[in-house]
Amino acid sequence: MASVSNEEINDIRASADIVAIIGSYIPLTQKGKNFVGVCPFHDDHSPSMSVSPEKQIYKCFACGASGNVFTFVAEYENVSFIEAVRIVASKCGKELSITTYNNNVSQALKEENEIMDLTQKFFLNNLRTKFGKDALEYLKNRGLNEDIIKEFGIGLSLDSNDSLYQLLLKKNYDIKKLLDLGLVNSVNGKTYDMFTRRITFPLWDKDGNIVGFSARVYRDEKDVSKYMNSRESKLFKKGETLYNYHKAKDIAKREKKIIVVEGFMDAIRISSIGIKNVVALQGTAMTTEQVQLLKKLRVKVILCLDNDNAGLIATINNGDELIKNEIETEVIRLSGEKDPDEYILANGGEAFKNNVDKPLSYFEFKMNYLKQNKDLNNVEDLSIYVNDVLKSLTEIDDPILKELTLDKMSKEYNLSIIVLKNKLEQLEPVKIKKEIKSTVIEKQRKDVFMIGSEKILYFMMNGEEYIREYQKKLGFFEDSLYREIANEIVYFYETNKEITVADFITYVNDKNDIRDKVMEIVNDSANDEVTIEAMDEYIDALSRVLVKNEIKRLKKLMKSELDEAKKLEIALQIKELKKEDV
Ligand SMILES: [Zn+2]
Repeated sequence: MASVSNEEINDIRASADIVAIIGSYIPLTQKGKNFVGVCPFHDDHSPSMSVSPEKQIYKCFACGASGNVFTFVAEYENVSFIEAVRIVASKCGKELSITTYNNNVSQALKEENEIMDLTQKFFLNNLRTKFGKDALEYLKNRGLNEDIIKEFGIGLSLDSNDSLYQLLLKKNYDIKKLLDLGLVNSVNGKTYDMFTRRITFPLWDKDGNIVGFSARVYRDEKDVSKYMNSRESKLFKKGETLYNYHKAKDIAKREKKIIVVEGFMDAIRISSIGIKNVVALQGTAMTTEQVQLLKKLRVKVILCLDNDNAGLIATINNGDELIKNEIETEVIRLSGEKDPDEYILANGGEAFKNNVDKPLSYFEFKMNYLKQNKDLNNVEDLSIYVNDVLKSLTEIDDPILKELTLDKMSKEYNLSIIVLKNKLEQLEPVKIKKEIKSTVIEKQRKDVFMIGSEKILYFMMNGEEYIREYQKKLGFFEDSLYREIANEIVYFYETNKEITVADFITYVNDKNDIRDKVMEIVNDSANDEVTIEAMDEYIDALSRVLVKNEIKRLKKLMKSELDEAKKLEIALQIKELKKEDV
């Protein structure tokens, strides 16, 4: 499958006029050299969105949305980035034949992706042949209609134990690659398909590339496990993905919440009743990578795990982890059936939707959980319970929630509010109190640093001369995120021999870790006048902060230094630096 190149995308962007394209979605009126309109990405009542024909970017003053013509179309139409490129191309009378685009995937992985895509096509096709009749019947009996089968790319592996292998062999793929990808297995020199006689479900990475398969039996088979999953490979890293993430993320952002379930069948079932902002862990414990993926969405997470003890424990463990990561968390506990899939099959979609409409806040849920197996009329049990709740409260930042909880406990169990407050204060980690004080100071100092760094990065996106200025006068950011962005800007320029803000936005689009920051920078600075003089002022300000920091560090070092000669050396260094610091 062919991929589209960055140059091609930049060409399409250059030939598309952002004012005309955005203007075809929302009314725009000219204001000075820019155009303004009512922002479609938040509940806007006055025109907060500004579109710059000069820079070919847009920004919303109210909600922070910003980007280039592709990101606008992708957000507005809720389609993938490549789909947005296709739409923009066709609006300019051009045609885009390719179907995949991925900056992140290196050339080396292109063939692996091709193999996966080809395998998926093969599985899809099998389901539509005479061999697929039973499987299709099975799926329909399980309440999965044609739309859902298509939406989730459900397919079929065949009876013959080397049909996929033969197909891939004909394409001259290296057998080692096929083994690595877990599509085939080799025993005593004979190679077999990994999946046979199973309904196949593709697994995607966060960008929507197929990285593996899960496959289940659909006929009475003895001595085989119901589900079989791809093993870990170069492409498939279990625990690094969330099933359905690439499709759910935009809808989740719009709805401002995402439902997290255990199994992919739960996600498919919930989707089938029209709730599309759902992802599956493919297990019970949430990994660090999964927490980070969720955090990036900046939406509320609703945990809806299985209705068994493992699911209950996992809800507490995952919930604690989400709260620690400052992610607003709510909980749905279904009753009766074992998981959301079976719950919906037994009770219907409306019953499930009612549950979604009334989730418990995580803290409320945890309070109930802590009550379990305790007799709160018993003084000892009550004391353990109150202590547990207070301990949980220390994890929470919300002072109002703390106050309300203490109040509620005080009334419910007839305890003195003062005693509860004192106890909570004792439990609060001491360092937090200290931290608050120092972060305020830190923040004020950091502001110059942050603003300066981000302005400089913005200037760098505007052309070679600004990149050169950075290299000449600064050359380095201490902060790793800023450094990464600066490196990407330099890399982009060196590869393309030119750079504009709008093209750089395209480039970072699939780089989740830096994209949000770049968008924020663009939004903050889009209206700044871009001149070398202005950039130099920021560089000077930043240099002064850097010098101050260095002096501070050296002074500390001097204090702890015992050797007099070395002490003098440091003192001289400080003196030198102070000359610069004027
Ligand atoms: Zn907005």
